[in-house]
Amino acid sequence: MAANLHLDAHAHSSTGPPLLRDSHGRSITDLRVSITDRCNYKCVYCRTGQHGAQYAELSAEDYLRFIRVFLSLGIEKVRLTGGEPLLRRDLPHIVSGIRSLRTISDRAPEIAVTTNGHLLDDLAQPLRDSGLSRVTISMDAVDPATFERITRVSGSFQAVVRGIQAAQRAGLHPVKINCVLLRGFNDDQVEAFARFAREHEVVVRFIEFMPLEEDRLWSPQMVVPLTEIVERIHRIHPLTPLPPTTSGETARRYGFADGNGEIGIIAPVTQAFCGACSRVRLTSDGKIRTCLFSHREHDLAALARNGATDDDLRAYLLQVIQSKEARHHIGEPGFLKPSRSMVHIGG
Ligand code: SAM
Repeated sequence: MAANLHLDAHAHSSTGPPLLRDSHGRSITDLRVSITDRCNYKCVYCRTGQHGAQYAELSAEDYLRFIRVFLSLGIEKVRLTGGEPLLRRDLPHIVSGIRSLRTISDRAPEIAVTTNGHLLDDLAQPLRDSGLSRVTISMDAVDPATFERITRVSGSFQAVVRGIQAAQRAGLHPVKINCVLLRGFNDDQVEAFARFAREHEVVVRFIEFMPLEEDRLWSPQMVVPLTEIVERIHRIHPLTPLPPTTSGETARRYGFADGNGEIGIIAPVTQAFCGACSRVRLTSDGKIRTCLFSHREHDLAALARNGATDDDLRAYLLQVIQSKEARHHIGEPGFLKPSRSMVHIGG
């Protein structure tokens, strides 16, 4: 079993314990944990419109144990996601539990949440008080009617705007807004988003649509490429490229030339960044996914249920990370979607 695995092949820090490093030489420092696959939105490009969870949720203590083990292997950032993570009433407890843990450099890990923002008006301050470092809010239109057509929830636009303002009041700066652009759905929103970013002092990040939806909607023609987004915004508000803030940063950053804010573009389809990927994912039911597009999951929760010690879990993770895929194959002949869609993996 896991404890018998050979660890010799894995990376070690110069003085200390083995660290997560995959067979392609990438250091894995970012953990994304889905804490539910339930969601209160039914975004048309993500969900079929059916309600309900498909996969189990674990207790806060289970997630905290797994996160503690991951941190002992060099993880520095933890992002909680879903589904909609704010649907879990114990989210502040989970955040404060993570806050009390330590990275291998004896620091508190950076803790972020990705949310649709619908419940953030009430929760931003409690989450900040629990130790949340940053929040990313998903918002796919700045036109209220378009937004509600996408989320299929009335009143959602105003709720999210209140959520953004609450996050700013709580000091969760800079608030980042993620916008997935789809040709023919919301690609008319690009320029309006640039204005929104400047007026509301948020960092808007446009994301290329990936084939991870529950329905079969994706086609290369639906992807709005990075180059087009930059050109369109540059025409109305000149942009200058900015350097990445961290080595594993997925967004290409551009500052408004007048110094009034920035935008980012995450282009997994037209300019894939797999070579710099530093991520590993844990699903709400405790399975490890080494890539969004993995066809194989690794059942950490089952191992724990069968009595594995922390050392067993560490040995298992070191082995699992070796199988991290070199890259995704979106758009290539023979590409197969993974069995879980984005909402069930954790975006
Ligand atoms: N409910 C939370 C939220 O709305 O941010 C967290 C989960 S959601 C699945 C995470 C992010 O994935 C959202 O920004 C969403 O827009 C994005 N997303 C969902 N499906 C996607 C797809 N097929 N391609 C790219 N991004 C997608």
